[in-house]
Amino acid sequence: MTPRHLNIIWLYHDLMNLYGDRGNILTLQKRADARHINTVVKGISIGETIPADADIIFFGGGQDQEQALVAQDLAGKKDAIVQFMQRGGGLLTVCGGYQLLGEYYQPLKGKRIPGLGLLPVYTEAGSERMIGDLVVKPSPALSKAGITSDLIGFENHSGQTFLKKGISLGKVIKGHGNNGEDGNEGVWHGTAIGTYMHGPLLPKNPELADYLIACGLRSHGDSTDLAPLPELKKYIDAARGMALERARNRKTSGLGLRS
Ligand code: GLN
Repeated sequence: MTPRHLNIIWLYHDLMNLYGDRGNILTLQKRADARHINTVVKGISIGETIPADADIIFFGGGQDQEQALVAQDLAGKKDAIVQFMQRGGGLLTVCGGYQLLGEYYQPLKGKRIPGLGLLPVYTEAGSERMIGDLVVKPSPALSKAGITSDLIGFENHSGQTFLKKGISLGKVIKGHGNNGEDGNEGVWHGTAIGTYMHGPLLPKNPELADYLIACGLRSHGDSTDLAPLPELKKYIDAARGMALERARNRKTSGLGLRS
């Protein structure tokens, strides 16, 4: 039997890497290694090409300045990302990356930054930064992807993102989410997930990590089930407990935000 493998792409690893997002890569590696799935992680940045055998793409967060720099290069990667999404690869994009895979990101000051329009969202910066621990109840449709537990992360953004259509990742229980107004957080589109949850997200949300791993495997014809990892449960529960406690004590400000 050929060894199971995953090719993980960290898009703009050197420019879009805020608030512990590297932990998402480490979590994917750890949860794959524990199942004897070989992983290769490749950082792809400006002027480089996304390989045709990518199984998972992670695109993290960045400030407005880096986003403007990346956006010009990202346009040249659109075809590769479209083909990746058509193969059903697991795509996770957080905050600044999430904004750039939508239609556009309009910063509070300066020119509109065009996105790839691959996620059904658009973003316009507000005057207030939305910062703190975020708790989200997953959209019911995500249960078929094995995602049923509340999602927990850390948000830090001024961009307000609105869904044009489709399914949000979930409903905000505590915090701001996409825009602090409509109660939506993130988007789930095909096998792509956009979210404002940094932190990193995946160590505290193993169902999401395993969903991305399963998509990545299936994208090259491996539909073997993923064994449970009970030995990690105590660490995950401890991390979730701490973040939930912080979220419980979080004071959210105006914008009609959820408290
Ligand atoms: N610059 C964007 C904003 O402020 C994204 C920030 C981020 O990636 N954390 O909304």
